Amino acid sequence: MNVPRRRAPALDLTGLHPDTVAVAAGRPHLAGQPVNTPMVPVSNYDSGNGPEYARGDGTDTWRALEDAVGALEGGKALAFSSGMAAISALFDSLGPGAKIVLPDDCYQGTATVVADGAARLGWRVIRLPTAETERWVQAAAGADFIWMETPSNPLLEIGDIATVCAAAEAAGALVAVDNTVATPLLQRPLDLGATFSVHSATKFIGGHSDLLAGIVVCADRQPGWDGFESLTRRRTYGGATPGTLESYLALRGLRTLSLRLERAQANAVELAERLDQHRLVTKVRYPGLLSHPGHDLARATLDGPGALLSFELVGSAVSTDVRLSKLQLIHRATSLGAVETCIERRAKLSGQDHLPPTLCRLSVGIEHVEDLWSDLVQAIDGLVD
Ligand SMILES: *Cc1c(COP(=O)(O)O)cnc(C)c1O
Repeated sequence: MNVPRRRAPALDLTGLHPDTVAVAAGRPHLAGQPVNTPMVPVSNYDSGNGPEYARGDGTDTWRALEDAVGALEGGKALAFSSGMAAISALFDSLGPGAKIVLPDDCYQGTATVVADGAARLGWRVIRLPTAETERWVQAAAGADFIWMETPSNPLLEIGDIATVCAAAEAAGALVAVDNTVATPLLQRPLDLGATFSVHSATKFIGGHSDLLAGIVVCADRQPGWDGFESLTRRRTYGGATPGTLESYLALRGLRTLSLRLERAQANAVELAERLDQHRLVTKVRYPGLLSHPGHDLARATLDGPGALLSFELVGSAVSTDVRLSKLQLIHRATSLGAVETCIERRAKLSGQDHLPPTLCRLSVGIEHVEDLWSDLVQAIDGLVD
């Protein structure tokens, strides 16, 4: 297993802009060969000087995706069957009694994995608000593993990755950043000192609500550190390998990420400003707004405010549900990061009762902004209470 095999020579990506890297990385560059890495549906290889079995040795299809995301984030990437498969593989490496720091506004699946580890393995868990950097710095001192998610979902708080990573390094703790909401184009956690950057490629990378996939990008700066090999073993023996079609589609999605994000983000900026002025909207959370408490930090660490925002409406959970039920174009759906705009009243999900009851998370897509605005306004104004 793990015998190197012949692959197309990689293009030198040095000095290219991320938008170009998203298009150019992970492609063959051989005369007479397809410009795309073909889909290779394979489990078994003829024995000899090369790969033997796909679960451990991978396929060209996954590797193309890994090469591209790794190039964007400046590390070595491993693709998984879903974001949760990637996240579980990371937490699986923690032993009994591990000390973990986790955001209080955090992807529910991650919180569930950690709660399970606390119950079974006695993990000691501290949960902190993403934006309270000083508390993260203090907590880093006694921690083994620090999990960050910034911008946070759905409260859109901004964490200070560089400051937390500096404190973690001094304490010998590892830091993983869930970079799903920011995307590899807006934030590069490894450059800020993180050990791992994690994606649900189901979201912005895939971008079309048609696949599940996950990616971990590992920093490879510590000499002798085997984080990448250990995670590869967990994928091989946990069996959480990505599908061929999913890997192909995720890479195809990545090719247009910069264009999709440009439009979705411009839409989000416009919608956030208009919602902020609407008489029935009591609060808008979006790092692109000047009023956002993390606005300056977001400007310093992110290349843009992104395409996710939340807003709260006057009234109750019930009246909010009635308003959302009037939406025609915008999907009432749970996921985020796709070309189509989706909205969800988040407190209706189990485990989310800490959220304001009327908080609606809007994952802004690439439709025309005026159509999105008309749909939102007719729904919000459609109920007189
Ligand atoms: C969706 C999501 C995940 C989980 O990814 P799946 O691909 O659904 O398994 C993890 N983190 C964040 C921030 C997500 O939005």
